[in-house]
Amino acid sequence: MKRQKLVGYGMLLVGMIGMILMLYYYWPKVSSLWENPERFWKLFVSAAKLDEIVSLGTVVTLALFFLAAFIDVFALGWEKSGLRKLLKGGDQSVWNDITCYLLSVLRVFDILALISSLGIAYFLASIFINYLNFNLSDLIQNQWLKLIIVFILLDLLHYFQHRFMHVKPFWELHAYHHSAEEFTLLTTSRGHVLEGAIYFLFSGIFYAIVGGDDLLEVIFYLNAVREGYQYLLHSDLNWHLGFIGKYVLISPAAHRLHHSISEKDYNKNYGTFFVWWDKLFGTYEDPKEFYKIGIKENPYNSTNFFEGQWIGIKHFLGLNSEK
Ligand SMILES: [Zn+2]
Ligand SMILES: [Zn+2]
Repeated sequence: MKRQKLVGYGMLLVGMIGMILMLYYYWPKVSSLWENPERFWKLFVSAAKLDEIVSLGTVVTLALFFLAAFIDVFALGWEKSGLRKLLKGGDQSVWNDITCYLLSVLRVFDILALISSLGIAYFLASIFINYLNFNLSDLIQNQWLKLIIVFILLDLLHYFQHRFMHVKPFWELHAYHHSAEEFTLLTTSRGHVLEGAIYFLFSGIFYAIVGGDDLLEVIFYLNAVREGYQYLLHSDLNWHLGFIGKYVLISPAAHRLHHSISEKDYNKNYGTFFVWWDKLFGTYEDPKEFYKIGIKENPYNSTNFFEGQWIGIKHFLGLNSEK
């Protein structure tokens, strides 16, 4: 545990030094922002543009939710379905899922992410997008090939950032996602707002390096399909998916193992779409049972969403009294 915490702070330190060095290198460009506040404002506007495309994706994701809910009801029957849990309301775990989902569909989640991170994540992401455009994907001429490669790299980013969130102290934020004690399909949107801000920053860096401006919109629609699949990963479907689950996609059963209440399973099956990365980096484990999900010490389902978020921030900053 202690070593993990050290690695986390080490990564944070290296990241911060990296950013300071980059800011230093690009300072002539960045400093002109202070002289011209209008351009400073435009940075935020361009981050909002990225957000706009994400919103378009949300419409597609909503449609995919109904599709996933239908599949879930069809396969499990109404009594065991995620949709029934949602309509019945009931325990706080389900309510937290519903709150997170509504806040993210209404884009309030992003605003909370912006405020809680003091704008830092959005500002840095904007700088990366605007000034550090390496656009490596422009080296690929064929548009289809480019699209496929960018999509695969985007999935690698998701693997990496998920794995990153499992390192302390970032785990304290990601624990909110793992605190769900049952899957309701909407559990996919259950998360900490600061985790959202960190993901936004990762996306900014990704688009600065990989680029693909011309593909941005297509990628987001494709991403919606990705996100749509997340509903099934957060359902009670115990599907292993046979050959596909072995070589192509991470199966719902494999993601359930990742959510298992047993701590030894947390660091397995980080993948959220393709199964390749877990196989490649040795983090894959075959699911063997229908795991009980959640985390051992769980203050999040006896509190509402906002209290839970605050607890997460305190744990992240090491301010929780019990430790
Ligand atoms: Zn996780
Ligand atoms: Zn999950």
